Amino acid sequence: MATPTVAGNWKMNGSAAEARELAAGLRQRLQDIGPGIQVVLCPPFPYLALVKECLDGSAMAVGAQNMHHRESGAFTGEVSPTMLAELCDFVILGHSERRQQFGETDRHVNQKVVAALAAGLRPIVCVGESLEQHEAGDAARVVVQQLQAALDGVADPAGLLVAYEPLWAIGTGVPATPKKAEEVMGNAIFPTLAVLVGDHAAAQVPLLYGGSVTAANVAEFVAQPFIHGALVGGANLKADEFADIVRITARVKGGE
Ligand code: PEP
Repeated sequence: MATPTVAGNWKMNGSAAEARELAAGLRQRLQDIGPGIQVVLCPPFPYLALVKECLDGSAMAVGAQNMHHRESGAFTGEVSPTMLAELCDFVILGHSERRQQFGETDRHVNQKVVAALAAGLRPIVCVGESLEQHEAGDAARVVVQQLQAALDGVADPAGLLVAYEPLWAIGTGVPATPKKAEEVMGNAIFPTLAVLVGDHAAAQVPLLYGGSVTAANVAEFVAQPFIHGALVGGANLKADEFADIVRITARVKGGE
C-alpha cells in the first residue's frame, strides 16, 4: 500500500534562521510520530543542507523544489540530480508555478522525472488543471495527459509520488472539494498510473492532494481512499499548523 505522506513546499520563503527554527520546531513537535507516515520538508535550495542537519536522526525527510535533468555542464543557475541526491531524498517536479512562470513543459517535466529516478531521488510529480479547464469539465483529461507525458519512458516508478494540485486551488484559500479531488485521483490519476506501470506498482505510489490544505480541512481529504496525503504550501510555514496536518493525516490513515 502507498505510504501516507505529507510534504511541505516552502517555496521561496524565509531566512536561514527561520528555516532552522521551522525545521527544528517541526522535529520537536513530531518527535513521537509513528513510522506509518512520511513527512517531507522542501525548503529553498540554499537551506537544504541546514534543514538536513536539523532533521538528522529523525524520520522526517528533505526534498528540493526543482532540479535540472542534466548531470553537469553550462547550465548557469541550475542544480543537478546528483547534487541534490547528496542533500535530500525527494524533489518536487512540474509544480504549476514552474510550469506557469518558468515555461516548464510536459517534456521538461518528463526529462526531470527520468533523471530524478535514475539518481535515486523520489519525484513528487505535480499535475493539475487551470480554472478554465476546471470550469469546462476538463480536469480528468488534462491530468491524464500530464501524467502520461511525465512518465513517458519510465519503466520502474519505484519511489514516485503524484500530487494532484488544481491550479485554481493553489494559494487561493479555495480548495477543491474532497469529493471532486477523489473523483480525479481515483477515476483518472490512479487508473492512468495502473495502465502505465501496472496495478501493483500503481498501488505503491502515494497520491497527494494539494491546494489550500489546512489543519481544518485535511481530514476530509485524507479520508478519501485515493488520497494518501497532502502537498502543503501556505500552511506549512506555520509549525503548529503543519504538525497538526501531519498528526491528523496519520490518525485518519491509521498511521498513529
Ligand atoms: C503548493 O504550492 O503546492 C500549494 C499546495 O500551496 P497552498 O497550500 O498554499 O495552496
